[in-house]
Amino acid sequence: MEISFTKLRVYRECPWKYQLQFVAGWRVPLTPSGSLGLSLHRALECFHRRDNPAEDDLWACYESRWLNAGYADEPARESGRAKGRRILERYLEDERQRRTVIEAVEREFVYPLGRHEVRGMIDRIDRHPDGRLEVIDYKTYGSGDETVPRDDLQLRFYGLGCREALAMEPDLLTMYFVAEGRKVTVPYDPAGEGELRAMIREAADQIEAGKFPPDASFCPRCDFRKRCAFSQARD
Ligand code: SF4
Repeated sequence: MEISFTKLRVYRECPWKYQLQFVAGWRVPLTPSGSLGLSLHRALECFHRRDNPAEDDLWACYESRWLNAGYADEPARESGRAKGRRILERYLEDERQRRTVIEAVEREFVYPLGRHEVRGMIDRIDRHPDGRLEVIDYKTYGSGDETVPRDDLQLRFYGLGCREALAMEPDLLTMYFVAEGRKVTVPYDPAGEGELRAMIREAADQIEAGKFPPDASFCPRCDFRKRCAFSQARD
């Protein structure tokens, strides 16, 4: 059983949703914000993979990595493209101030966990001038005003992956809300690793055993609520 953060998240939201999405192959519709987020992630990866990139490189990357899918029509697509440009202009302001060294972008990790395999992709890993290592996850929508709890599962998942698979010791975990140029950073605490490993292993065991009970508490926020046989939120 290979488990990623997305699979873990979906299984924890509702095991039956996991079955529909990853076993039956139901597709989650691509929304404008989801499509724009993919375009921005791809553009930033392209930009930072270049040697000493100039600002113009970011615009070239944005054009070459742009995704057309997910928009209702051409005006909606152009509106999304313009919004993305504004976000990247904002990003470049941060880049001019950056004092960290980027050690990795879109860095994949894979490590064994019992008989399972854990896989993930970290958006960016930075080294600070004082030597501290920062694991960064880009958020292209949502607000940095949200408080990120210290036990944020996604950041902890990446922090553990960094230690287990990349032999790098993270000091800081950051959600980077690129539209606002706002970062929410928490220190990495290895004390929770045992609990996190147990959570991942248990979910992988349950998935492997084909245990997919519906959890109606997630129905109001579920992408499949209009089609799912167990849905309690069809409106
Ligand atoms: S509609 Fe409800 S029961 Fe069905 S997959 Fe979604 S969350 Fe699970």
